Amino acid sequence: MSQVWPPSAQRDASGALSIGGVDVRDAASEFGTPLFLLDEAAVRERARAYRHAASEVGASSVYYAAKAFLATAIARWVHEEGLGLDVATGGELAVALRAGIPGRDLVLHGNNKSMSEIETAIAAGVARIVVDSFEEIVRVADAAARAGVVQPVLVRVTIGVKAHTHEFIATAHEDQKFGFSVATGAAAEAIGRIVRLPSLEFRGVHSHIGSQIFDAAGFEEAATRIVAFIAALEREAGITSRELDLGGGMGIAYLIDDDPLEIDVLAEQVAQAVAQECAVQGIAVPDLAFEPGRAIVGQAGVTVYEVGTVKQVQTDDGIRTYVAVDGGMSDNIRTALYDAEYTVELASRSSAAEPMLVRVVGKHCETGDIVVRDAWLPSDVVPGDLLAVAATGAYCRSLASNYNYVPRPAVVGVRDGRTSVVLRRETLEDMMQLDPGA
Ligand SMILES: *Cc1c(COP(=O)(O)O)cnc(C)c1O
Repeated sequence: MSQVWPPSAQRDASGALSIGGVDVRDAASEFGTPLFLLDEAAVRERARAYRHAASEVGASSVYYAAKAFLATAIARWVHEEGLGLDVATGGELAVALRAGIPGRDLVLHGNNKSMSEIETAIAAGVARIVVDSFEEIVRVADAAARAGVVQPVLVRVTIGVKAHTHEFIATAHEDQKFGFSVATGAAAEAIGRIVRLPSLEFRGVHSHIGSQIFDAAGFEEAATRIVAFIAALEREAGITSRELDLGGGMGIAYLIDDDPLEIDVLAEQVAQAVAQECAVQGIAVPDLAFEPGRAIVGQAGVTVYEVGTVKQVQTDDGIRTYVAVDGGMSDNIRTALYDAEYTVELASRSSAAEPMLVRVVGKHCETGDIVVRDAWLPSDVVPGDLLAVAATGAYCRSLASNYNYVPRPAVVGVRDGRTSVVLRRETLEDMMQLDPGA
């Protein structure tokens, strides 16, 4: 059994849920619903745990993958806890810089970086640019030369793990848009070109094998293959990869039965796999880096919705109860996109009523607008009740849309009974400003 709620989650005497010492009913009335509550202490604790686990295995860098959820407050929290940031666009870079994160703590990713994104990153002095195509090698080299700097780069490689080993490694197969293939020789060719360019400094390789991974096997397999590749590169071309960035993808519990590996155990097993293969291949162990996103913010976030309607619908084998809330696929697309599963609870009160199986749905004009496909809620759930969905801190607000002109929810930090606005609620006026009118 895993904890899916932030460690600070509690119920008071009336059964109302609080997060970070803040009663969800008070937060809902002050900031409106849907609402994301983000437990600041939980984000900081996860960041520290990753920093510590990395240090224990001698890895020098942990970069928070900003795409999971980014705002200036988050950038500052994780940076204060010793993490750098992995940004993948000019927009994410701009937020990180606005938060005051120095370039030396930033890594720029992306499979199609624009010239202006590359120039801004170089001007900011980002620690690493992870190059992803032959065109980009030239673009980064030109931009660095014009800026009069030598830009350190990593090369994103695709290691072509056979998809049938584990379902999660299916994303590391050959036919996808990221990286240079090791198997076809493209990765070695890219690195060969980089070392010949005086405005680039080749530091090592990067591999991100996928997401929501629960055990070390996929990382170990990836690490072993990459080490074999960099060893061959060293033997055959005399090029040393001093760094190995293994990306993110560490899973979290969305349901109490989910059982992800603890980060210190995972880091230890991965570092061991790298060290072992380096010994076999006879090369020095490269400096490891990790890029967790979901694992830092996922469990710190909770969505609070208000129930609007409760409808009984006849199905082939009985009655299904649809509980509709005031958000949905515009604030959490993951259920519609990947059949993601979530834990939901009645949050504004306790109830002694029998639990019933319900489907929690949103307010959008799509049948697929489902928040939780199968959930047990007290059978006396009524309009006006608040529901809380756990583990929505990652890939929910960052993937939010304005579908149906529904304004995107606020994200409110909670800590020691106090609230702080991380992102304010979007307004109709915000959306109207984009439309010049007639
Ligand atoms: C998405 C991504 C991450 C973070 O993935 P999580 O599953 O959120 O940990 C890290 N690195 C890269 C390159 C990514 O694309």
